Amino acid sequence: MTLPLEEYRRKRDFGQTPEPNGTAQPTATTPTDFPRFVIQEHHARRLHWDFRLERDGVLKSWAVPKGVPLERGVRRLAVQVEDHPLSYIDFQGTIPTGNYGAGLVEIWDSGHYGVVHYDDRKITLAMLGGKMRGGYELIHTDQQNWLLFKISDDTEQPQS
Ligand code: MN
Repeated sequence: MTLPLEEYRRKRDFGQTPEPNGTAQPTATTPTDFPRFVIQEHHARRLHWDFRLERDGVLKSWAVPKGVPLERGVRRLAVQVEDHPLSYIDFQGTIPTGNYGAGLVEIWDSGHYGVVHYDDRKITLAMLGGKMRGGYELIHTDQQNWLLFKISDDTEQPQS
């Protein structure tokens, strides 16, 4: 077992990067019972989208090389990466050259989500974002790799 956020902190020099160091945990409650999510478009060495879910006091995080699918029938690789601090949910900015993940980070979508099912092999979610809306599933395939796809549209109930 590693300490929460240990890997996140180990990879970064907070004297160099504008990213949050994660020591300040927000305690304010959100105006809704639903947890938050964010998708950050990250112009790193390779462009990818970082999909992050507020859960267990951290942001569970996946790097999605081709971005999250907005329609059914498209499966996208999502590579799980280290948990990020909750304060990262608002982060936008440029990580300077020479630092881990150097490049521009912009928020691509955000909102809340509902959990239909959540375990180490399968996650089923009802997404309530601006762009990412409806039922989605993450299926663990091997190692850090998951497959992310849409299973139902906005008005339908996702099946667990
Ligand atoms: Mn990234």
